[in-house]
Amino acid sequence: MVKLACFSGRVRVAVRLRPQNTEELVADADFADCVDLQPELKRLKLRKNNWESDTYEFDEVLTEFASQKRVYEVVAKPVVESVLEGYNGTVMAYGQTGTGKTYTLGRLGDEDTSARGIMVRAMEDILANISPETDSISVSFLQLYMESIQDLLNPANDNISIVEDQKTGDVSLPGATVCEIRDQQSFIQLLRLGEAHRIAANTKLNTESSRSHALLMVHVKKSVVDRDEFCLEAQNCSIGNLRPPILRKGKLIVVDLAGSEHIHKSGSEGHMLEEAKSINLSLSALGKCINALAENSPHVPVRDSKLTRLLKDSFGGTSRTSLVVTIGPSPRHRAETASTIMFGQRAMKVENMLKIKEEFDYKSLAKRLEMEIDKLMTENERQLKVYENEIERIRLEAQKRVAEAEGNYVEALEEEKTKCQMDYMESIKRLEEKWTINQQKHAINAEINNGAGNEKVAELKRLLQDEVCLRKAAEDEIQKIKNQLYRFSKMELAGRNSDGFSIHQVLEEESCQKKKLEEEVRVLRSLLAQISIEAHQFRSYPDGSNSANPLLGLDSLEPLNQMRSRDCNNGERASITNLHEQDVGYGFLSYHYHFRLSSCFCIHLPLDITVGLQKILSLLQSEDANVRTHAVKVVANLAAEEGNQEKIVEAGGLTSLLMLLRTYDDETIHRIAAGAIANLAMNEANQELIMAQGGICQLAMTATDAEDPQTLRMVAGAIANLCGNDKLQMRLRSEGGMKALLGMVRCRHPDVLSQVARGIANFAKCESRASSQVTGSRHGRSLLIDDGALPWIVQNANSEASLIRRHVELALCHLAQHEVNAKDMISRGALWELVRISRDCSRADIRALARRTLTSSSTFQSELRRLRIEV
Ligand code: ADP
Ligand code: MG
Repeated sequence: MVKLACFSGRVRVAVRLRPQNTEELVADADFADCVDLQPELKRLKLRKNNWESDTYEFDEVLTEFASQKRVYEVVAKPVVESVLEGYNGTVMAYGQTGTGKTYTLGRLGDEDTSARGIMVRAMEDILANISPETDSISVSFLQLYMESIQDLLNPANDNISIVEDQKTGDVSLPGATVCEIRDQQSFIQLLRLGEAHRIAANTKLNTESSRSHALLMVHVKKSVVDRDEFCLEAQNCSIGNLRPPILRKGKLIVVDLAGSEHIHKSGSEGHMLEEAKSINLSLSALGKCINALAENSPHVPVRDSKLTRLLKDSFGGTSRTSLVVTIGPSPRHRAETASTIMFGQRAMKVENMLKIKEEFDYKSLAKRLEMEIDKLMTENERQLKVYENEIERIRLEAQKRVAEAEGNYVEALEEEKTKCQMDYMESIKRLEEKWTINQQKHAINAEINNGAGNEKVAELKRLLQDEVCLRKAAEDEIQKIKNQLYRFSKMELAGRNSDGFSIHQVLEEESCQKKKLEEEVRVLRSLLAQISIEAHQFRSYPDGSNSANPLLGLDSLEPLNQMRSRDCNNGERASITNLHEQDVGYGFLSYHYHFRLSSCFCIHLPLDITVGLQKILSLLQSEDANVRTHAVKVVANLAAEEGNQEKIVEAGGLTSLLMLLRTYDDETIHRIAAGAIANLAMNEANQELIMAQGGICQLAMTATDAEDPQTLRMVAGAIANLCGNDKLQMRLRSEGGMKALLGMVRCRHPDVLSQVARGIANFAKCESRASSQVTGSRHGRSLLIDDGALPWIVQNANSEASLIRRHVELALCHLAQHEVNAKDMISRGALWELVRISRDCSRADIRALARRTLTSSSTFQSELRRLRIEV
C-alpha cells in the first residue's frame, strides 16, 4: 500500500563557476571572463562581446569562491531532506568536461574534509537522520557508457537491464549490486572501489570518465515514528497492536553526467563515431525531454535513451530534482558555457509532481510479531515449567502430608487399641474380683445354709463308721468261726472221742439260733393278727350287710399293666388307623395308678369285679378319707381298662366320681377322680353321659380350683377326650369346657400343656370334619379362633416338647383345612408355622398334610405368592 502526498516542485537549478585554473590564468590573462555573476541577485551575465551581455536568473548562483559546504546546502541538502521524508530525489551535474561536475559531486575530501563533495555530504546527512535499528540505506553505483549500464561495484555486471513496473512506471535495476551502508566509512570505501572500477573499465575500453555517466543510487527506508499516534510506546506495548509501522522509501540519484561538449563535438578529436553517437544519444535525449517538459509538450521522449529512462522520475516525474550546471570562466569556451546555461534555463522550467512514498511495513510488523510470539512462547514455556514445578511441589507436599496423617492415624489407632485392651483387662480384673467376692459370699451363705446338711453329713458319717465297725465285727466273727472249724478238723483228725466239749458248744449255738428264729415267727404272727384286725375293721362298716368281702373281690384283680399290654396287643387300638384318632385315643392313669395302688395295697384282691365293684363304689362315699382315697384309686385303676368302663358306669361309678369332685375339696381325691373320669371319657357313650350329668361344668370348676399340675393334667385329659366327640362340640363350649381347657395353659407344666394341645387338636379335627361334610353344620370361623386360642397355638407350634408340638401341628393342619380360618391364620402368623411344618416336621404324614393344606387353600396360595414363598 502506497500513500502519496503530492505537491508540485519545479526542478531547481544552480550554476557554479569554476575558478580559473593555472592554464587559464596564463592563457586568458589578457581576456575578461565570459561570465559575470551576481549571486545576490541570483543572476549571471554572459558576455556576448565587449559591450553586450545576456543576463540569466538561476535558483542559485555559486561563484568560484563558493565553498563545497555551501554548494551542498544550497543544491543538495533540500533534496536529501526530501529523500529522508520519502520522496525521490535527484542531484545532477551538467556541464563541459573540466568545469567541476565531479569536483562538485564526487570529491571524497580525504586530505581536506572541507572539500567533500555532495555524495559524501549527502550520505553523512542521511546516516545522521536514520536509526540503524529500524531504517536502512543501500547503495548501487553504476556507469552508463554507450547505452550500456555497468556495475561499478561488480565489474562483471557490465550490461544491466532496466526494468519498469508496468503499473507504477517505477524504474529499477534488479541486476545491480546493492550494498547496505552502515556507516560513512564503508560508503567512502564503496565510492573509492567504484571509482577504481570506473578507471579500470575505462582503461579497458580505451576511453575517459568524461565520456560516461556515473550514477549513484541511494535507497533509504525509514520508518515513521510518531505519525498518526504510532508511537514507540505502542509498538512496544503489546502484540495486540497489529497496525504495521509506516515505512518511507526514498531514492536519491546523484548523476555525474558525461561532458556536455560531446553533443557538439561528435566525431572530432579522435572520438569514435559510435561513442560520440552514444554519448550524444543519452545527453541529447535528456535535452529533448527537458525541452519537451519545459514546453509542456504532450510527448516526452523518455524512452529514447537509457539515461532518460533511468531519470524518468527526475524530470517530469515525482522526484525533487536539483541540477547544478557547471561552467568555466574561459572566454574560449563561451559557446559551451552558453549552451550549458541554456540547458539549465530550460531545466528550470520543468515542473515535477512530488510524491511522498510511504507504505505500511508489513515485513517489519511480521518480524516484530514473530519476535513478540517468540518472546511469549519463551515466557509461556518458562511459566509452564514453573507451573509444572509448582504442581510437582504441591504433589510431593500432599504426599508427605498424607503419609504424616496416615502415620498419625496409625499411632492414634494403636493408642486406642492399647487403651481398649487395657480397659478390657481392667474390666476382666474387676469382674474377677467381683466374682471372687461373690464366691466368698456364696461360700459363707452355703456354710450358713448347710448347717443342717452338715449335721446330716455328720450323722451319715457316724452311721458309716458304725457300719464299718459292724463289718469289722462280722469279719472277726467269720475269722473266729474259721478258726473253730480249723480246730474242729484238727480234733477230728486227732481222734473223734477227744472232742466232746467242742460239739457240745456248737450244739448250744445252734439251739440259740433256733430260739431267735422262733422269736421272729412270733413277731410275724402278731403282725398278721394286726392285719386281721384291720380287715375286720373294714368289714364292720355301715353297709356291712353285704356278706361278700369287697376286699376279696379286689384281691382278684390282675396287675393292670399286664391287662393294658394285653389290650394293646389284641389289635383293637391298632385298628384305629386314622392319624387323628391315634392321637385322640389315650388311656389315662392306668400304669401310673396301678403302680401306686400296688405299693399301697400289697394284697392282691380276688377277681369277681361286678360284686367287688359295688362294694368299692360304696366305699367312695365312706366318711373316712383314707377309705375314700383307696376306693377311688381302685375305681380309677379299673376305669383304665376299656372292658371295665361300661360296667363302672352302669354301676353308677361315673355319678359317684362326679359327686366326689363336687363334694370334697381334697385335691388328691380330685386328682384321682378326674383321672378316672378321663379314663371313662375314652368311651364315646360315656362321653355323652359325662356331658348329660353336668360333668363338663364339674370338670371346669375343678380345673379352676386345682393347683397341682397332675390334677390339671387329669382334668385337661378328660376334657381333651370330650373334645374328640363331634356331637358335643357346642355344649362343651357353652358349658365352659373349652374355656377351662384353654385356661389351663396358665400352668406351664408340659404334661398339662400337652393335654390342652391334644384337646385343641381334637376340637379342630372335629370342626374340620364338620366343615368338610356336604351337609356340614359348620360354616363360620373356628370357635377356637373365636375363643382366642390361635396365638397360643402359633406360639407352641414349635414347642420343644415333642408331644405338645405334634398336637399343635395337627391342630394347625385341621384349622387350615377350613378356608374361612385362613385369613386369621395369616394375620396371626400361623401360615409361617404351616410352611415350616410342611418342610421340617419330623413326621412325613404331618408334613404331607400341611403341604396339602397349603396348596389347597387359595387364600394361602395367594399370600405365599405375594411373599414369594415356594412350598
Ligand atoms: P569535470 O568533472 O567537469 O570534468 P573536474 O571536476 O574534473 O571537471 O574538474 C576539473 C579540474 O578543475 C580539477 O582539477 C578540479 O580540481 C578543478 N576544479 C573544478 N572546480 C573547481 C573549483 N570550484 N575550485 C577549485 N578547483 C576546481
Ligand atoms: Mg568529471
